[in-house]
Amino acid sequence: MRIGNGVDVHRFVPGRPLILGGIEIPYDFGLEGHSDADVLLHAICDAILGALSAGDIGHHFPNTDPKWKDCASSVFLAECRRIAAKRGYRIVNIDATILAEEPRIAPHIPAMREKIAGILQIPENCVGLKATTTETLGFVGRLEGIVGLAVALLKRGRFRLP
Ligand code: MG
Repeated sequence: MRIGNGVDVHRFVPGRPLILGGIEIPYDFGLEGHSDADVLLHAICDAILGALSAGDIGHHFPNTDPKWKDCASSVFLAECRRIAAKRGYRIVNIDATILAEEPRIAPHIPAMREKIAGILQIPENCVGLKATTTETLGFVGRLEGIVGLAVALLKRGRFRLP
């Protein structure tokens, strides 16, 4: 078994859709980034890569590469799953938290869990997802951006390659 953690932060900007956990959430601002800036999927990618000691998302999907411009982060997450599989590891479970003052995340959690479970090809009950505000404190509280936090547990074993 191997465990990894991932943390990511993106800043709110006008004029972009807000993509979190692979789904679009209605809000006045989106997140700034080279890709779709899905701060939750980025944290999960880093948790998986961290568990493998395989560098980080910036190493595998550099933001200097035009190939990843506006790319859906579900592509990154699927590739992280494949990197794990190639090294003989499957994902046992994920636990993640979103820190956001706005918008309200709770109504979207079921759809995000379903999406993440689908990308990782694991049961939905193996994807823990929570959201909290920071009680108006700090950059999250000032509505400047969103934080994603994730932990991933991987297990070595025999399984089908995607
Ligand atoms: Mg990121």
